[in-house]
This record gives sequence, structure tokens and C-alpha cells, in this order.
Amino acid sequence: MDYILDKPLYGTIGLEKYQCSIEWRNGKFLADEPVKAGGKDLGPDPHTLLLSSIASCTLITLRMYIDRKGWIIPAITVNTNLFLQTTEGKKLCTIDQDILFPGPVTDEQKTRLQQIAAQCPISKILESEIRVRTFVFRNTDTKEIHYENEEFSVVWKPGFCQHSARCWTQLPEVFDPKIKKWINPDGAPAGKIEQQVKKCPSGALGFINKKNPK
Ligand code: SF4
Repeated sequence: MDYILDKPLYGTIGLEKYQCSIEWRNGKFLADEPVKAGGKDLGPDPHTLLLSSIASCTLITLRMYIDRKGWIIPAITVNTNLFLQTTEGKKLCTIDQDILFPGPVTDEQKTRLQQIAAQCPISKILESEIRVRTFVFRNTDTKEIHYENEEFSVVWKPGFCQHSARCWTQLPEVFDPKIKKWINPDGAPAGKIEQQVKKCPSGALGFINKKNPK
């Protein structure tokens, strides 16, 4: 289970309505709600951010294709919006993308570019079956099981585990839920295990360095 982003998107909000700081690979930006929803409109709202993803992916995909073909098409624009419907209890989200080429482009080129746009990576993601998993980190005291060697101990709090599968799919040499003693502290170098433990979204995993306990 490899995530698409090397480093997850990081978001945080304080008491200021509704300014979210979003950190990405190379910087930060603000997200907010419009004034009518109680925010200050200092950044794009969540719906806009969702649509920005497919709009930018469409434009980038088209630009890559056009450049590869050596076509002279200096500008591409897209208007993107969505609407929601509920039919017979089933929810449907429709995203419309209106693409315009301001300069001269033949009908043949437009037909091909329409097909290419529909296959951009974000379109494919949005048209696949999507599930959203939400985890909450806990750090209170609860029953612990220690799996240790001389150097360190991997702590597991079974009551907190939210079964994300992140540990055993990303570091199967150490975590194997098919066996009773499911954590093998000798299966990988200490640093690699510690890094994996930090990725546990629920607080079910901990790492204690015996020489330097924190
Ligand atoms: S990463 Fe944490 S929450 Fe996910 S399965 Fe492993 S122990 Fe459980």
C-alpha cells in the first residue's frame, strides 16, 4: 500500500473562523470559507480545492500531450464546476469541465484533446470507486503489549488499533497480522521500524528506545 504523495498533505485550523493552513511539499496556502458561510474568503473553499485538482490536472495533461505532438496551441482554458443530485436515495456528483482553446485548433485536434482530457489521472481517480477513511489519534493509557529486543521495544495498544493496515502492508518484515506474535522487532533496522510506527494513525503503535527512553 504505497501512498501517492511521499509526504501527506498536512492541514491545521485554530480558532480563527475558518482559516485552514495547508502545507504541501513545497510551501503553504490558506483555505477558508466564503463570507456567507462565516469565513473571510482568504483562500479557496474546500469545493474549489477539489475542483482545482481536476482542472489543473486536465490542463497539465493537455499541455503535455500538445507539446509531445509538437502542435502550436499557446493557451487552453477550463471552467470547472459540479452539482449534486439524489435519485432514488442514491447520491450522484457530476463534475462538468468546459474546455476552450482561444487560438486556432482544428476539429480533429479538438476531438482528440477531448479524449485526452477525459483520461487525465485525476479524472480516473474521481471516476473510480472512492472510499474515505478517517482515523483519530489517541494517546491515553490503555492496555499495552510490548514486542522487544535488547535495543528497543515496539508497543502495541490493541484497544486503539483502527485496522488501517498501514503497518503490515508497508513493513511486512516486521508486522504480520496472520501470526500471534505479530510484531517482530528484529525484522528491520530500528530506524525503519520507528519511522513506520510514527505513521500509525490511531496511536496504537509506540516505540521505546531502551538506551534513550523519552
Ligand atoms: S498502523 Fe496502527 S492502526 Fe493501522 S493496523 Fe497498524 S497498529 Fe493498527
